[in-house]
Amino acid sequence: MEALEQVVHYLDRAHDTGFKAKAFVRALDVVRSVPPDELQQRAEAGTLTDLDGIGDSTAAIITQALDGDDLPYLADLDAKTQVPITAEGERYRRALKGDLHLHSRWSDGGATIEAMARTAIALGHEYMVLTDHSPRLTVAHGLCADRLAEQVADVEVLNERLAPFRILTGIEVDILEDGTLDHGPEVLSKLDVVVASVHSKLRMGHDEMTARMVRAVASPDVDILGHCTGRLIGKREPSTFDPDYVFAACAQFHTAVEINCRPERLDPPRPLLQMAVEYGCYFTIDSDAHSTGQLEWQPHGCDRAAEVGVPVERVLNTWPVEELLRWVAGE
Ligand SMILES: [Zn+2]
Ligand SMILES: [Zn+2]
Repeated sequence: MEALEQVVHYLDRAHDTGFKAKAFVRALDVVRSVPPDELQQRAEAGTLTDLDGIGDSTAAIITQALDGDDLPYLADLDAKTQVPITAEGERYRRALKGDLHLHSRWSDGGATIEAMARTAIALGHEYMVLTDHSPRLTVAHGLCADRLAEQVADVEVLNERLAPFRILTGIEVDILEDGTLDHGPEVLSKLDVVVASVHSKLRMGHDEMTARMVRAVASPDVDILGHCTGRLIGKREPSTFDPDYVFAACAQFHTAVEINCRPERLDPPRPLLQMAVEYGCYFTIDSDAHSTGQLEWQPHGCDRAAEVGVPVERVLNTWPVEELLRWVAGE
């Protein structure tokens, strides 16, 4: 199971969503559901491929892993799927102490909170903010106040086990059409960090969108503006708004501008990021990961920050956790 999880992790970080990646995810599901004794027997008898969802290559890996053999496929895949980073970007990556935007199985992520945290620890992070979706995003199983409270309780238990690593509580709250938020202050003020993002009506008029975003970033409950244009490279045009108003508001109301590291987003685009720097905004470099492998995407945003000359000391997740918490508390 661990070997297959590792394969899926490597394919995820390479943003491989093709046939092979799907086959491994499927095989992992099968392995999770078959009793270990049966797997062992089938490996010895050479009948693993009789299981629906196990093919020749997955069967080979399972057999090697059960025998305690070297896993050449895994080593090869590790080498082939390293996320590239420039020398300039590396300076930012080395400075990062955490990740402030990521999802778990509670909403539309593919991994448990614990799996995400353990991967973050392996990447050298000291903390992460769990930011699952808010209820409006029904397709992503957004969290209502009750489920969010349950999640916060789970995080508390996990934190005892994973200390000194810290999982901070949070949410990626939807910015509704009028600029209000998909949870009230009674919910949001209890969370450590709030990312606010536009996920609906991305095509609304320029002035309306400006007012919507300014209203959201001016909210005392919002700490970070997520993927500000909503673009999906090659698939969806960026939304249009007046960046002068939005970034001036971010600077004035202490809302950081997220540099979203997802390869299909890389949001904000360079000219907008440049403007945000000129307005003296704060920033975050966040993976927006929906699986463990995607936590390795921060280099994409680090390269972008380096290109545009984002001051590294203005990137919130290069700060120690206590300093970050003081900033989001407005102290
Ligand atoms: Zn989002
Ligand atoms: Zn997200």
